Amino acid sequence: MIEDKNQQRTKLSDLGEFGLIDHLTKNFKVKQKSTVKSIGDDAAVLNFENKKIVVTTDLLVEGVHFDLSYMPLKHLGYKAVIVNLSDVYAMNAKATQITVSIAVSNRFSLEALEDLYAGIETAANIYDIDVVGGDTTSSTKGLLISVTAIGEVETDDVVYRSGAKPNDLLVVTGDFGAAYMGLQILEREKEVYKVNPNNQPDLEPYSYIIERQLKPEARKDIIKLFKDLGVKPSSMIDVSDGLSSEIIHICKQSKVGCDLYEEKIPLDPQVISTCEEFNIDSTTVALNGGEDYELLFTISQDDYPKIKANPNLSVIGYVKEEKEGVHLVTRADTRIPIKAQGWKNFND
Ligand code: ADP
Ligand code: MG
Repeated sequence: MIEDKNQQRTKLSDLGEFGLIDHLTKNFKVKQKSTVKSIGDDAAVLNFENKKIVVTTDLLVEGVHFDLSYMPLKHLGYKAVIVNLSDVYAMNAKATQITVSIAVSNRFSLEALEDLYAGIETAANIYDIDVVGGDTTSSTKGLLISVTAIGEVETDDVVYRSGAKPNDLLVVTGDFGAAYMGLQILEREKEVYKVNPNNQPDLEPYSYIIERQLKPEARKDIIKLFKDLGVKPSSMIDVSDGLSSEIIHICKQSKVGCDLYEEKIPLDPQVISTCEEFNIDSTTVALNGGEDYELLFTISQDDYPKIKANPNLSVIGYVKEEKEGVHLVTRADTRIPIKAQGWKNFND
């Protein structure tokens, strides 16, 4: 398992708050022309001229959203950025800036926070966004990290959850259930490690699903693809809580029903084999697993020829009238009502 390998541990109190902020943010470079003033004043200054601005935020709490015994801090920093960018892309917008706020207990060293910020910086570079501010404070226990992401979009290009129309096609990017199954593997290995710390697990057969849990990506590429293809989805949402609850969000807000075809749900072979190993149903995992950070959207059938050859996109269903309801059409051709079952943290 992944342990804190930092030999050198500098106490946060040795730097003080301002020294710490300077140290963590000194490498950040401004890349976006909309960033007028970045870190260093009382507030950042941004200039979007005549574009619409989208803003979204997420709060991640140690012990609730992540477990540092198998989540390296560098990956946590990366993932905290990705989950926010995914929400920006789900509006069909371009992500441009983030702010990062952290609360840390004295259990964390400077080197640990350097790892966290290395992940944030990597994501900022790969996704071409500026870190323009944040806040730093102490917590009595554990780590909290909150990222706010800002993006820009032409007024006519904004896509809401509410625009799906009967006869539209329901389309997804990527595949589903991998992050959830990756978490099952990591939790199993954590238990094995507790019993026998010398055990060296062979995680190679699970490399894809573990990567999907520890290092997810957001679908920036798809926003560009829509532009290139001249496609504007009628509705869109990112899949953070599981396909079923996101489909229900789209249907409720668009006042439509839909049929989702079980056989069309894209699954990676590692998800299928790991589900067999755990004796769980892969469709259930795809529908309710969560943390896929793929995009779910609807398009008019007129746009189908533009997307049909694209290997990143799968048509998984069909939008119907609201009164028809929201159903999964199984491989055995039975129709089961879809219920939201987001795996969020209130019921456990
Ligand atoms: P204030 O007292 O006005 O809240 P701070 O001293 O907290 O200002 O922050 C100084 C500058 O550093 C600001 O630009 C702020 O946005 C930025 N900043 C503070 N904490 C962080 C952080 N964890 N990550 C990135 N930028 C930060
Ligand atoms: Mg502050």
